[in-house]
Amino acid sequence: MTSTDPVPLPDYAGEAPGHGVERVDVVVVGAGLAGLTAARALTARGLAVVVAEASDRVGGRTKAREVEGSLVDLGGTFVGPTQDRIIALADELGLDRFATFDAGSNVISWRGAIKHYRGTIPPIGPIGLADIGRIQFEIDRLGRGIDTAHPERSPHAAKWDSHSLTSWLRSIHALPSSHTLMSIVSGTTWGCEPGEISFLQVLRYIAMAGGISRMLDTAGGAQEEHFRQGSWQVSARMAAELGDRVRLATPVTAVDWTDDGAVVTAGPARFRAARVVLAVPPALRARIAFSPALPTPYSALTQRWPQGILSKAYAVYEQPFWRDAGLSGQALADTGPVTITFDASPHDGSRGILLGFIGGDHARHWDALPPAERRIQALSSFAEVFGEKALTPLGFTDQLWAAEAWTGGGPTAAPAVGTVVSTAPYLREPVGPLHWAGTETAEAWTGFMDGAVRSGERAAREILRALRPFAEVAP
Ligand SMILES: Cc1cc2nc3c(=O)[nH]c(=O)nc-3n(C[C@H](O)[C@H](O)[C@H](O)COP(=O)(O)OP(=O)(O)OC[C@H]3O[C@@H](n4cnc5c(N)ncnc54)[C@H](O)[C@@H]3O)c2cc1C
Repeated sequence: MTSTDPVPLPDYAGEAPGHGVERVDVVVVGAGLAGLTAARALTARGLAVVVAEASDRVGGRTKAREVEGSLVDLGGTFVGPTQDRIIALADELGLDRFATFDAGSNVISWRGAIKHYRGTIPPIGPIGLADIGRIQFEIDRLGRGIDTAHPERSPHAAKWDSHSLTSWLRSIHALPSSHTLMSIVSGTTWGCEPGEISFLQVLRYIAMAGGISRMLDTAGGAQEEHFRQGSWQVSARMAAELGDRVRLATPVTAVDWTDDGAVVTAGPARFRAARVVLAVPPALRARIAFSPALPTPYSALTQRWPQGILSKAYAVYEQPFWRDAGLSGQALADTGPVTITFDASPHDGSRGILLGFIGGDHARHWDALPPAERRIQALSSFAEVFGEKALTPLGFTDQLWAAEAWTGGGPTAAPAVGTVVSTAPYLREPVGPLHWAGTETAEAWTGFMDGAVRSGERAAREILRALRPFAEVAP
């Protein structure tokens, strides 16, 4: 047999051949960036692949909508330096990037006053600034000591895991202003309150992004650019290439596995495969009945890595009017519901678009409001920092990720205090024929689109090594 010969499928115990069971080499569960990347890589190496996607669209936590003729990214949007895998993939698929508008002054609504400032350091007074500076320094310093792929092996792993971000801030006597700023960061980064997430995960996540500045900055950071055609196009174009291998509205409900392969039940469809890639967030794995049941630490992962909660609001205006006032469109607010705002106007500035993030407790309250009230509150947040004109957009839309049936929140999982040391070793360790993908399993840029792509590539490599032992597989 040469390395390109199809892999003969094993006969699985207890499964009679035929009878409506489709035979493939690999079933990929989930058509988000991770699953589609894995499917594309495996298909390119000649394997027969089916992607079972529960919802009626591909893209998962990336999604697009048109508002008043302008395209908005409802989920993952921005990319930045060192996010090499999503950028390479998007380049290959013919997408263009443009710089996030960043010229002019930023605005902060802080303790009842509105202030303008340049750069990344908000004017919160010298004592507040010194305190947040020392906290950033300390988080970056501790992060450099974290084994990001295996956080449980890091020095003091158990100690950091026994802290939440809040309890760690208390332990170093952080000022109330620093608690507030870190709460805004936590709400938009992990979709949770700082008291809800393990400090070990905080350190690991920030270290994987290359530090706090790289994670939070626009120029030189993770918000540096976005895609002219919208990020959803990355998934849409991969799915177009994969054609009828992608099955929409096909939720996987059961996986019966042995060491030799698996039978995957997805609605009325059944697939028999040598390998399965589960490219769904850890918490969503709980909807699948595994038989035999997954080993205990893997079920713990499904229970102890809950999705955060992050929502988005977009207002579309005739013009980016804030630019006339010398403002960048970027704002920070200690009030809410919108706590962070960006200028998400099209590359040619033909319309003005403000993007507002609503995360953690703000999202829990705001999501529960009727649509008209959500609109009023979000526009009021925009008006607070950019003036009355913000109250009368041409169009408005919002996206509640916690209400997406097959996502259950966002932007990523927020593992609670004391859960990372015991569960992280199992994030991507295969179980028999079952391989794990999805941004939560990534070894770099976890939580981001880049991490999702990397995880799909890694899962594909694992499978190629297993099924094509004589083929050359990139390290
Ligand atoms: C509001 C928001 C803003 C964000 N902003 C950014 C950003 O600016 N930059 C950035 O890089 N990242 C951002 N992210 C994160 C980024 O979108 C995600 O990291 C990435 O899209 C995750 O991809 P994934 O393939 O790992 O998972 P997902 O996109 O969640 O894909 C999983 C897929 O599995 C499907 N599925 C679930 N259960 C089943 C089942 N039982 N059977 C079949 N299918 C199933 C789902 O429908 C989904 O399509 C943001 C996310 C959100 C929500």
